[in-house]
Amino acid sequence: MKPFIPHSKPAPLTAPNLNPNVMGLPPSATLAINDLSDELLAQGQRIFKLGLGQSPFPVPASVVEALRRSAHEKDYLPVRGLRPLREAVAEFLQRRHGIQRARRQVLVGPGSKELIFITQLAYAGELLVPSPSWVSYAPQARIIGRRVTWLPTTLKDGWKLLPETLEQHCASSPGLPRLLILNSPNNPTGSSFSDAELAALAAVARRHQLLVISDEIYADLHHEGPSASISHHYPEGTVVSTGLSKWCGAGGWRLGVFSFPEELEWLCAAMAAIASETYTSVSAPVQFAAIEAFRGGPGIERYLHLCRSILGVLGRLGATTLRQAGCSLPRVDGGFYLFPEFGAAAERLGGRGVVDSSTLAEQLLQDTGVATLPGSVFGRPSSELTLRLSYVNFDGASALAAAEAGETIDEAFVRRYCPDTVEAIERIATWVTG
Ligand code: PMP
Ligand code: GLU
Repeated sequence: MKPFIPHSKPAPLTAPNLNPNVMGLPPSATLAINDLSDELLAQGQRIFKLGLGQSPFPVPASVVEALRRSAHEKDYLPVRGLRPLREAVAEFLQRRHGIQRARRQVLVGPGSKELIFITQLAYAGELLVPSPSWVSYAPQARIIGRRVTWLPTTLKDGWKLLPETLEQHCASSPGLPRLLILNSPNNPTGSSFSDAELAALAAVARRHQLLVISDEIYADLHHEGPSASISHHYPEGTVVSTGLSKWCGAGGWRLGVFSFPEELEWLCAAMAAIASETYTSVSAPVQFAAIEAFRGGPGIERYLHLCRSILGVLGRLGATTLRQAGCSLPRVDGGFYLFPEFGAAAERLGGRGVVDSSTLAEQLLQDTGVATLPGSVFGRPSSELTLRLSYVNFDGASALAAAEAGETIDEAFVRRYCPDTVEAIERIATWVTG
């Protein structure tokens, strides 16, 4: 047999052949700060991990038990998700949020992050995101090669997108396909939209035929009540996104869900086709266990009530401590993030070499051991002195057990069960005023 001799030199296998969209793309800031914190911890430093945002609470015992029972499930599952799981998700959305969507309108994926990514892949439109927004929406658009527009917001308005801002942008070049992502309760700000605010945004979205992803991953962690959803005001154009990662404490299980209106079945079908050619389906044992989670019941209701109460008290205490140190923050409504602005201390901080949000986060980590993320990775101007704090560095299992045993959830409770979180925020306050 003649040896195979190539006619021309093959293209070199080198970095310059990377897709230009990913050239220089750094790892996601949330995961990078977690790696850095772990590295510093391994070196023996005392680090307060307010960087990555993940639930401090354990997965409810009944859901863990369901996963154990499902470990033998080994088959590939349907691309759109297991039938009874999709049924349970539809019932969950109806029961908890009054969102009426049937089983066939639900798509299960390996994390809502991946589902948001494949929406952007499937829908060829400009991405609109309020500034600030969660770190991954815009890099996903960049990977795909979509145009991104950051819509301005102000601290005075609770960092919330106003309908007139959305209208102004859409009216400036009408008729373009656009995807708007709204997240409430919000990462990074902790604030949430009221029903009236969403109704006003929905009117603009309908006028300009926007595709809306309503990222409701923190909806069940609204501290004080049901979370409003834009899907009630603009059902035909809104995809609702949620999953197990936050309210069920199972970020590492990687299960997210989308629900679509009938009008957007074509989008769901396109996304399912992408899924079928990429990840196929979500891990089978996780899908079986997720049925238990979404079916809920009194045990899970109680779990949610206690988690939300603890987060509410801790979030409000953190915000008060930071306000007393001169920081500005919007009202804290849900989730587990605070987004303080340090402008009042700009002069003092400038004298210490802190001139933007990156140096703010770096210097804070160096001086106090408190790991946070700079506002710039959430789309804020780099010169603005903002930080995101994830107030989750406590032993959620102990806190939950104490709450279940009937201890009153008040300031003394969070000081006792979330001492490192309280100390981290006090360290920030002392550092900024010092
Ligand atoms: N949206 C927001 C606002 C988030 O904070 C996260 C973080 N996990 C996600 C979506 C993605 O969550 P997951 O992929 O774990 O469902
Ligand atoms: N959503 C979490 C955060 O904002 C972390 C998980 C992730 O980014 O994938 O910190």
